[in-house]
Amino acid sequence: MKSYPNTTLPCAVFGHNYIKTKSNKDHTLELSCNHCGIVVNTDAKGNFENISSPKLHIKTVIRELYLLKLQTVKAKLSS
Ligand SMILES: [Zn+2]
Repeated sequence: MKSYPNTTLPCAVFGHNYIKTKSNKDHTLELSCNHCGIVVNTDAKGNFENISSPKLHIKTVIRELYLLKLQTVKAKLSS
């Protein structure tokens, strides 16, 4: 297994725990992991850009979870 200096153990095992740090005017978001501090940006469709995640499937899962969370928030707002 390759080692990643910016990845703490929980991040390596469970994936990053992203929190939103910035909303941009062009509907992109800046997210950072509150464990290891990695910063990623999303595009206008919510896809991750510039992610340095060690595993592609983790990136995909995180994106799906994020989109799911987004849908939940939208559902709460519209009810
Ligand atoms: Zn992390």
